[in-house]
Amino acid sequence: CGFVAIVGRPNVGKSTLLNCLLGQKVSITSKKPQTTRHRILGIHTEDSYQTIFVDTPGLHIEEQRAINRLMNRAASSSLADVSMVIFVVDGTRWTDDDEMVLNKLRHVNAPVILAVNKIDNISDRNEVLLPHLQVLAQKYAFAQVVPMSAKQGTNVDKIIGWAQQSLPDNVFFFP
Ligand code: GDP
Repeated sequence: CGFVAIVGRPNVGKSTLLNCLLGQKVSITSKKPQTTRHRILGIHTEDSYQTIFVDTPGLHIEEQRAINRLMNRAASSSLADVSMVIFVVDGTRWTDDDEMVLNKLRHVNAPVILAVNKIDNISDRNEVLLPHLQVLAQKYAFAQVVPMSAKQGTNVDKIIGWAQQSLPDNVFFFP
C-alpha cells in the first residue's frame, strides 16, 4: 500500500486539498459539484519509491441515479489498501450526509483524519461546529481532527506529518 485517500462529499474541497498537498495543479477544481468524476492520481516518485494520492469521486448518499452508484463503488474500492484516509468535510456546511459517510468509513482498516475544511470562511454563527465535531471525533474514534483551509494552506503541514507517520517504512511522502 502507501496510498493516502482523500474522501468526502462533492464540493467540500478535496481537489483543492490534493493540489495543496502536491504543491501543484493536478486535478480540476470547480464551483460546480461532481467535477471530479474519475479518480485522479497524483504520483510523486523518487528513486524507486512512489506515493500515490487518490482523489476519490465524491461519496453520494443518494444512490438513486446510476452514476452515483458507480461513483460510490469507485470510492469504496479505492479505500481497500489505503494507509490513511483524509475525510474532508465543509466546515461551513456540515450535513447529516457527512455523518452517514462516517459509517462507510468505519470499515476502513486505516487511521481516519477528519479534516474540517474552509475554516477561513467560518462565521460566528458556526462557532458551535467545532465542539460538535470534537464530539463526533470521539464517537467515531478518528485518529485526528484538524480544522483547516485548503485554500490558504492552513494546517496542511499537520496532515502531511500524519501521512508520513502512517505510510509504511519504505514509502515516503514528499510534499
Ligand atoms: P471537491 O469537489 O471536493 O474536489 O471540491 P473542490 O476542491 O473542487 O472545491 C469546491 C469549492 O470549494 C471550490 O470553489 C473551491 O475553491 C472551494 N474551496 C476549497 N477549499 C476551500 C477553503 O479552504 N476555503 C474556502 N473558502 N473555499 C474552499
